[in-house]
Amino acid sequence: MGFSTALKLADLNDFIAPSQACVVSLNSKKIEVSYVPSSFDQTKNVAVEKPVKVTLHDCLACSGCITSAETVMLEHQSIEEFLNRLSDSGKSVIVSLSPQSRASLAAYYGLSQLQVFRKLTGFLKSLGVKAVFDTSCSRDLSLIESCVEFVNRYKERQLPVVTSACPGWICYAEKTLDAEILPYISRVKSPQQAMGAVLKRHACYALGLRPEDVYHVTVMPCYDKKLEASRDDFIFAVENGASGLAEVDSVLTSGEILDLLQSRDIDFMSLEEQPLDKLLTNVDEQGHLYGVPGGSGGYAECVFKYAAKHLFGAEPDRVEFQVVRNADFREVKLEVDGEVRLKFALAYGFRNIQNLVRKIRLKKCEYQYVEIMACPSGCLNGGGQIKPKEGQSAKELIQNLESAYLQEVEMKDPFDNPIVKSLYDSWLGEPASLSSKRVLSTEYHHREKNVTSQLANW
Ligand code: SF4
Repeated sequence: MGFSTALKLADLNDFIAPSQACVVSLNSKKIEVSYVPSSFDQTKNVAVEKPVKVTLHDCLACSGCITSAETVMLEHQSIEEFLNRLSDSGKSVIVSLSPQSRASLAAYYGLSQLQVFRKLTGFLKSLGVKAVFDTSCSRDLSLIESCVEFVNRYKERQLPVVTSACPGWICYAEKTLDAEILPYISRVKSPQQAMGAVLKRHACYALGLRPEDVYHVTVMPCYDKKLEASRDDFIFAVENGASGLAEVDSVLTSGEILDLLQSRDIDFMSLEEQPLDKLLTNVDEQGHLYGVPGGSGGYAECVFKYAAKHLFGAEPDRVEFQVVRNADFREVKLEVDGEVRLKFALAYGFRNIQNLVRKIRLKKCEYQYVEIMACPSGCLNGGGQIKPKEGQSAKELIQNLESAYLQEVEMKDPFDNPIVKSLYDSWLGEPASLSSKRVLSTEYHHREKNVTSQLANW
């Protein structure tokens, strides 16, 4: 009996005989499925029981079970739990909204992203949320760290660098790829985790809150972000203070926010637009949203521009990615004096990721930097986004989301973001310095395929 690499927790039912015990237990942030297959000990001529445990560490974030009801862990990151926390007087609930979720709701309601952001802020505050922020802001921090990290690794010849913001990809890399692939992954935290780190380690004090009194919820385009928030690497302690704090306590998807609105019969169109919280939100004095282009974070484009300038003194007017083998595998080159000096790629979807990983393994990767995203078409197409309306194809919806995002958000270099500049000046120090890395970088871990190896002995 073999397990495919894309193990789904849900598939376990296929392997459990009716006579074997199966227990699903839920501890604070952990799902544990244990079952006791019987086997035969020939030396003693008796049947023995071998408990097999499946934990979150065995999940590959393949979305197969994550989108189904049996993902018990997700009860802890649900609308119900969110509402419970709002009625807990000891906690202040803070929500960070992703630009992809904002765009998804805007397309659904036929509103601008700014209108959605303002209306949602008003609605969430009417429920008792203390502040609503924007992960475009923390994404700028992730981008700046990524730019400097790349230039340093280029100089040290530790290439290629592949991005780390997609938990679906990280999960796959840690659980199914050789340990030697992991060093190629950027150490920079995703925008979600960067927001959590900044909010709970620093910005909450500006709101008069202690980190332990904050319940931080993000709104994201995929369920895999819930797994990311649950990683042990993102649990921290405050100096001389509370420990065991999560940077992000709960993740809700764009679709779950729509469910919440609909379950309460909210007429979203007639909700009043409320002022935005500016502490960690990319909105300028005129009320315009700003950020980088790219529905998946704009990593490759941003790092390409920075590297062209800081390594070769070049300032390309436009960064245009050319399709290589399909729309989800594109590349861009920088030529200086007729010689290709930089070659970056975008690789979205597992088929393209697998091709790329093969090249890295064989040491034949011609790219110095690759923006990897597990979902075909990237994050605007995440599994937690609002589904297309009747008669609308998924492709049409993504095109709408991409063009709306580009039209409505004023493009601004992350290095020019005044909030981010002030965070570096007053607290983080230089980008990619020891002090900023303490807050904004993470580690990856090669994980043994526990379940696979144990089940192979059945
Ligand atoms: S590519 Fe998909 S799985 Fe990865 S972060 Fe984006 S929405 Fe989530």
